Amino acid sequence: MNIHEYQAKALLRSYGAPVSDGRVVLKAEDAKTAAGELDGPLWVVKAQIHAGGRGKGKFKEPEAGEKGGVRLAKSVEEAETLAKQMLGRTLVTHQTGPVGKQVNRIYIEAGSDIARELYLALLVDRQSSRISFVASTEGGMDIEEVAASTPEKIISFSVDPASGLSDFHGRRVAFSLGLEGNQVKQCVALVKTLYKAFVEKDMEMLEINPLIVTPEGQLKVLDAKVSFDGNAIYRHADIAALRDETEEDPKELAASKFDLNYIALDGEIGCMVNGAGLAMATMDIIKLYGAEPANFLDVGGGATKEKVTEAFKIITSDPNVKGILVNIFGGIMRCDVIAEGVLAAVKEVGLQVPLVVRLEGTNVELGKEIIRNSGLNVIAGDNLSDAAQKIVKAVKG
Ligand code: GDP
Ligand code: MG
Repeated sequence: MNIHEYQAKALLRSYGAPVSDGRVVLKAEDAKTAAGELDGPLWVVKAQIHAGGRGKGKFKEPEAGEKGGVRLAKSVEEAETLAKQMLGRTLVTHQTGPVGKQVNRIYIEAGSDIARELYLALLVDRQSSRISFVASTEGGMDIEEVAASTPEKIISFSVDPASGLSDFHGRRVAFSLGLEGNQVKQCVALVKTLYKAFVEKDMEMLEINPLIVTPEGQLKVLDAKVSFDGNAIYRHADIAALRDETEEDPKELAASKFDLNYIALDGEIGCMVNGAGLAMATMDIIKLYGAEPANFLDVGGGATKEKVTEAFKIITSDPNVKGILVNIFGGIMRCDVIAEGVLAAVKEVGLQVPLVVRLEGTNVELGKEIIRNSGLNVIAGDNLSDAAQKIVKAVKG
């Protein structure tokens, strides 16, 4: 689960990280008051969307002005003007895709003077099964680009969970960032703070880009991107409350309400499968036969008619879907019950694209017969390979 920059900053501030004072604004008429509560002479007006690269982004509407989603203002009035320009507009960055994201909230922050822009991130490193630090002197830029062109400018190390974090780790970050004197002390404290927040709140990633050094030599968190482990959200009611549903894929949101594990992808074959492993295998075999899956969808163990119908609705609401492959193993559920559920769902949703159904398990013959005799345009697959080939053929001809 992702949160907005202003929420991430409030969270980090509560742990004691150095963050500028700021106010979130939902309505343009509140912008002037919000800016007036902050110290000048510089204000930063920042579009709040769940995507990075806002500074270099572009708005779709000409009324929003030429410049990106992070702008500097020299007066309270100018901050208000910028807020008016950005709110309700669509910001396109390299992370939003060409559709962009509507800006429903902006954050006005007391502006900082910058001497250096650095990069610091913590993440769960699946390779080492540990929390890793990533640091670079090349902050404020697209870190993927730095990794591609000058990988030697990025340092990374992991923390042994048995011995935990010590000052040594903070100093290692500080020296790799070229910090000296009092800045090293600040960095050691910051690293401790970030690590504590990361572990306590079950974060998946915490990225500060840029971490700045001010001309006075103070470290400050200028941007913050945080994502949490979705499986641990139940332990953190405070974090769950930060969820902004308008930022999420509406299909994924609908799926989560029906307890379906759905991830939108960009291929043409919709998949409905029970069990995550079988869903992965189904996506693999679609690719093997030359097509691309439009989604990952695990309907779970109890694939009821209601769930199957909802899954069909979500899959068919994706305009890229040119065909659907249902691949269900009837273990606890019987294949004839599943077949009836699938047919009922097809009738209710009114399917417009080819559908291949492959069933295996208890009462499989009865299930296939129900599909064959349905009179509907549903193709029965004999096994996984046969079903995948049939749906790819139906879509690609
Ligand atoms: P992003 O583009 O979505 O990553 O948004 P950031 O919060 O990282 O802001 C982009 C860039 O705007 C930063 O790298 C800074 O160069 C600049 N910026 C952001 N806040 C300030 C500020 O308080 N003062 C100044 N001078 N520049 C800022
Ligand atoms: Mg940034």
